[in-house]
Amino acid sequence: MANIQRLLATLSRINQFGADPQGKGITRLAYSETYTDALADFKELCEAEQMAVRVDAFGNLIARREGKNPHLPVVALGSHMDTVIHGGEYDGTLGVAAALEVIRSLNEERVETVHPIELIAFACEESARFGASTLGSKAMTGLLDTYAVSNLRDKNGITIQEAFRECSLDFHKIGEALRRREEFKVFLELHIEQGPLLEAQRQQIGIVTGIASPTRIQVHVSGKASHSGTTPMNDRQDALAAAAEIILEVESAAKKEAAFGTVGTVGVCMVQPGAMNVIPDSVTLQLEVRGTSEQSKNNVLDSLFRLFRELESQRGVIINPAVINVERPVLLSEEVVAKLTECSESLDLSYIRMTSGAGHDAMSMAHICPTGLIFIPCREGLSHHPDEFAAVEHIEAGLRLLKEAVLAFAIPSS
Ligand SMILES: [Zn+2]
Repeated sequence: MANIQRLLATLSRINQFGADPQGKGITRLAYSETYTDALADFKELCEAEQMAVRVDAFGNLIARREGKNPHLPVVALGSHMDTVIHGGEYDGTLGVAAALEVIRSLNEERVETVHPIELIAFACEESARFGASTLGSKAMTGLLDTYAVSNLRDKNGITIQEAFRECSLDFHKIGEALRRREEFKVFLELHIEQGPLLEAQRQQIGIVTGIASPTRIQVHVSGKASHSGTTPMNDRQDALAAAAEIILEVESAAKKEAAFGTVGTVGVCMVQPGAMNVIPDSVTLQLEVRGTSEQSKNNVLDSLFRLFRELESQRGVIINPAVINVERPVLLSEEVVAKLTECSESLDLSYIRMTSGAGHDAMSMAHICPTGLIFIPCREGLSHHPDEFAAVEHIEAGLRLLKEAVLAFAIPSS
């Protein structure tokens, strides 16, 4: 049996690295000394389980447990060990610690699998240090924009290339981290939900069917600056008043698509000239629309673009939208969803199928192999925060499902 106490001990062991002395959670930023120390310590734990461990050219840790047929594609499982600043103990780290526990219990029970098993701790999943996320899994799956990434810097001005050197990695060799589709049979990731659904619905497990992707747009509204005291109300081209209508439209259009899980947010609003006695003539908004249904996302975007034309004619402003990026939603393998459903039922775990509003390494892996993402509830949906918490019984349910699924894929029944 997988041992929940041993898993919790592994979690605590990893979380000694980066634990804030004043209790403000865990700070284990990608490629930092703290992170590198944690990775080295975890590598020893994997080696103690007789796994062959390597750190690839991007800093991803890959630990392999051999199968009866070493030529077969691997059953891979894992997540990430880097955190945000003052993050929690579970985001990512849980998936890595649980993967090790699965391996330990297989060793203890002397289970020989047909397929080899690989534990992966992906590097730089969080955008906290370099402003870009899931870099390790992107490097592994060929999704990395190498040129854009090579120019990234952290808040202290340290380039990602320098950060690599400090970890004895060579940025010019990152191409070597690329893996082939044929190497993988399946990838499985256990992760806290980072949202409130499972807790609200009192479910132990969320089987993720798709991962939402954002379309990000910058909207510039130009009006006309003039004196706030002398310009009559019906003779204004107020850029901020127009922007306010846009902000509310993002909200109401996304609400109409709530049934599809689509969400819309305006997170940035910059107003010029920014004086109380001047009518604003320039507003820049940055907004995103996220969802797993492209049609639903497009419905929100369409209604926004209709509004832009209306505002131009009604308010005399000029609106220039520029798409910052469009990412396609990732649908996860139906075969893996079906297998996770079957395993949840055989283990008598309560579950729902759901989508993920946040990105994960599983999203990258889904580009090269059938991929499954298992969620467990976290208290009040809170994550990226020192108070992030997952209950032991939920962690145990997730661990049991992860192990059952690994066995199902690594020891095919026919
Ligand atoms: Zn995570």
